[in-house]
Amino acid sequence: MKTYRQYIDGGFRDSHSKDLIEVVNPFTEKVVATAANGDAQDAADALEAAQAAQAAWAAKPVIERAGYLKKMADVIRANRVELARTLVEEQAKISALAQVEIDVTAEYFDYYAGWARKYEGEIIESDRAGENILLFRQPIGVIVGICPWNFPFFVMARKVAPSLLTGSTIVLKPSSETPNTTFEFAKLVDTIGLPKGVLNFVSGRGSTLGDALVKSPITGMVTLTGSVEAGEQIIRATAPNITKTSLELGGKAPAIVCADADMDLAVKAVVGSRVIFSGQVCNCAERCYVEASVADEFMAKLGRAMAEVTFGDPFADPNPAMSSQISKEQLEKIEGMVQRAKAAGAEVLVGGERPDMPTGFFYKPTVLGKCTQDMEIMRKEIFGPVLPVMPFSDLDEAIALANDCEYGLTSSIFTRDINKVMRASNELKFGETYVNREHFEAMQGFHAGWRKSGIGGADGKHGLYEYLQTHVVYIQH
Ligand code: NAP
Repeated sequence: MKTYRQYIDGGFRDSHSKDLIEVVNPFTEKVVATAANGDAQDAADALEAAQAAQAAWAAKPVIERAGYLKKMADVIRANRVELARTLVEEQAKISALAQVEIDVTAEYFDYYAGWARKYEGEIIESDRAGENILLFRQPIGVIVGICPWNFPFFVMARKVAPSLLTGSTIVLKPSSETPNTTFEFAKLVDTIGLPKGVLNFVSGRGSTLGDALVKSPITGMVTLTGSVEAGEQIIRATAPNITKTSLELGGKAPAIVCADADMDLAVKAVVGSRVIFSGQVCNCAERCYVEASVADEFMAKLGRAMAEVTFGDPFADPNPAMSSQISKEQLEKIEGMVQRAKAAGAEVLVGGERPDMPTGFFYKPTVLGKCTQDMEIMRKEIFGPVLPVMPFSDLDEAIALANDCEYGLTSSIFTRDINKVMRASNELKFGETYVNREHFEAMQGFHAGWRKSGIGGADGKHGLYEYLQTHVVYIQH
């Protein structure tokens, strides 16, 4: 069994804490690795290493920094199969999707390397004669990146790539559920000649190590991908230092299916958006509104499609459509939400229980009818393969129901009517809307939530500029 050590200042070292985190394969329920349960001293060591390395890193030409991102992409590609295997083992993502995550992560490093010659400052016209106003874009300094368990490898790159490209250094903490792929990557990074201290990986709990990282005065920005609860705690913890935060939090994405939609396309996209990675994706379709005149047809097709969703061993060939939930706690959370929905009047049309499996934290793909807007299942993030559905009478009502939500990450609409598309584009209050397709973003877009889904965002030009601060210089000559 593998044991992962902290990666600080260009080398692997033991944690100050002797405590270990056990990493469990959610499908077999067996411990597959241990990682350090790091403490505040580990956090301080990593931050000090990142701080010491930052000025020299920022002084390198950006094209040179981009070269290291390309090397990271190269070592990922050279080890793509082994990395995907590690990912499947630590989180029971089906192997085809795990391979996509690894491959897209390599592309992500290449994508941000490509920004080296593109990001710019500005020259601003002055009110005075003989004056130039220059706006520089400069690195923030030391970034703290905190990752969730659902896309541990990709989200790691989402934080590392823009930090390093723009001249900051970073301390990154993976989720305690899924540290393995990150530390396998650390071993690869150790071979590419990156200056020591530029990239540091530390494992440990959010409440201890994570808290110490975000509270430190060394930290210039905290970028968290995780739950609303963790976001709230981090806002409080960073308040004394007024530290910049970029928060990518939970979602409760509505999918609106209009009567004029291509019904088969809508069913396929909604089911795909619900069961991808066993429903554990922030932008998953979490609730569905269907126009009343086609509700019976849609529900019949949806029920059949969800009942046909296969689940099982994530390594099986061919892959099932989904596998186990990440943990017993997540499984019990889903179970509790479905039970409370039933007690409030929802009807289980498909699933609604654990399957009979020898091992693994499985929940059956589930469709709930007779849902109402006030139910918890329509308002709180489920993060599992459960789709509550509710009818609507017209687009005004559908948009109002969709917007009536504390989250604001993603949304979708299925219609052939361009007027409805334009109304949804203007009136849905979400960071992203998908029209006639599944929920999933592109690296050149901008992934940012409204309301409790977050502050700031990631990807593309706007995601890169999150990692830069401005410095305006007035030159009188
Ligand atoms: P989580 O429980 O909030 O944990 C996320 C990370 O934050 C973990 O590394 C956790 O550490 C750490 N953490 C927790 N409390 C902290 C604190 N007070 N200070 C510092 N760090 C702290 O979330 P999760 O269960 O891993 O991930 C699922 C959630 O992430 C869902 O809500 C999902 O919607 C959201 N998500 C959002 C996006 C997006 O782009 N908007 C993408 C993916 C996931 P430990 O767990 O190791 O203790």
